[in-house]
Amino acid sequence: MKKIEELVCPHILNMTPYASARSEFKGNANVFLDANENTIRTNYNRYPDPLQNDLKKAIEPLVELDATQIFLGNGSDEAIDLLLRIFCNSGKDAIITLPPTYGMYEVSACLNNIQVIEVPLELDYQPNVEGILAAQSERTKILFLCSPNNPTGNDFDVGKLQQLIEKFEGIVVVDEAYIHFSTQASCTRWIQKYPNLVVLQTFSKAWGMAGIRLGMALASPEIIALFNKVKPPYNVNVLTQKYALSQLQDWSTLKEDIVTILSERALLAKALSKLVFIEEIYPSASNFLLIKVTQADTIYQYLIEQGIIIRNRSKVILCDNCLRITIGTKVENEKLLAVLSSYSTLKIK
Ligand SMILES: *Cc1c(COP(=O)(O)O)cnc(C)c1O
Repeated sequence: MKKIEELVCPHILNMTPYASARSEFKGNANVFLDANENTIRTNYNRYPDPLQNDLKKAIEPLVELDATQIFLGNGSDEAIDLLLRIFCNSGKDAIITLPPTYGMYEVSACLNNIQVIEVPLELDYQPNVEGILAAQSERTKILFLCSPNNPTGNDFDVGKLQQLIEKFEGIVVVDEAYIHFSTQASCTRWIQKYPNLVVLQTFSKAWGMAGIRLGMALASPEIIALFNKVKPPYNVNVLTQKYALSQLQDWSTLKEDIVTILSERALLAKALSKLVFIEEIYPSASNFLLIKVTQADTIYQYLIEQGIIIRNRSKVILCDNCLRITIGTKVENEKLLAVLSSYSTLKIK
C-alpha cells in the first residue's frame, strides 16, 4: 500500500488553500467585520461555517467516527469530483469502475480529463477481483466500488470488498448511498485500519433529503484534510446545515421509513413476479428493484404514456431488457402494478 502523500497530485500537495475570512481567526468574537456581508440584515446574511462543525458533531455518533474523519459536500457527487481532483492528474491518470454502476464516476472523470478503465461485474453482479487487480497500474489512482450497487441493487460480497481494499494500490472508494437499506455492515468500520479507504454516504436516499444536497466522505483524517484543502470554502450552505441538523434528531422516524420501504419492496417484488412479461427480479439491498422483462423499451414507453416514470437501464452492459424501479408509496406502487397488469392483458390479447 502506497502512502497517501504519494498518491496525491503534486500540485494539490503543494498548493496554498484559500483562507476564508472566518477560518483565519481562533477564539471568541462578537463583532464580525471581516467578510463584507450586509451587517444590517439578520438570519441568512452571514456566510456558513466552512467546516460545518455543529453538523459534524451531530453526525459523529451516527457514523461512529470523529469529525476529523468526516467531509461534508454539496451531495456526495461533490465528494466524487473532489476525489478525482485530489488524486488523479488530468490527462495522465485513470480510475477503475465496475459497470454497470453509478454514472457520475465516469461523468466526473470525463470532466476532469481522467481515463476510465472498466472492469465489468461478473454475471452474478459481483466484482471480478482478479480482473480489477490485473487492471491496476501506476496510473490507476482510484477504484470505485458501489455497494449496494446502482443499478443492480445488490451488496458486494464482504470478503471481496475487503480483499480489494487490501490489495488495491491506490484509493478505494466504497459508495454506500444505499447502505441504510442493506443488512450488510458499513465499511466505515474499516476506516481506522485502511488509510486508503474512502466511504461515501448521502442524505439523499434513506434520509429523505435529496433536495438539500448533502453528502459525505468518511475517511482517515489525512484524506479529510485534503478534501478540506481543495473544497470550495462555503460548499454547504446555511439552510442545508440548519435543516440537516434539525432532521438528524429524527433518527427513529427514519428507521420507520426504512422498514416501510423494505416491506413495500417485498410486496412489489411478489406482485411483479406474477406478471407474464417479467423474466427476472434481482435481489435488492436497496430502495429500488431491478427487473428483467421481455421488452424493456415498449414497457418503459407504455408507462410514460400512463404518467409513470421509471428508469430504463436496458442499454447498459449486463442489463439487457432491464428496468429500475424506485420503491414508491403504497398508492404509487399499486398504481404502477395496475398499469403493468393492463399492459400484460393488452399484450396477451
Ligand atoms: C443517488 C446516488 C448518490 C447520491 O448522490 P448525491 O449527490 O449525494 O445526491 C451517490 N451514489 C450513488 C450510487 C447513488 O445512487
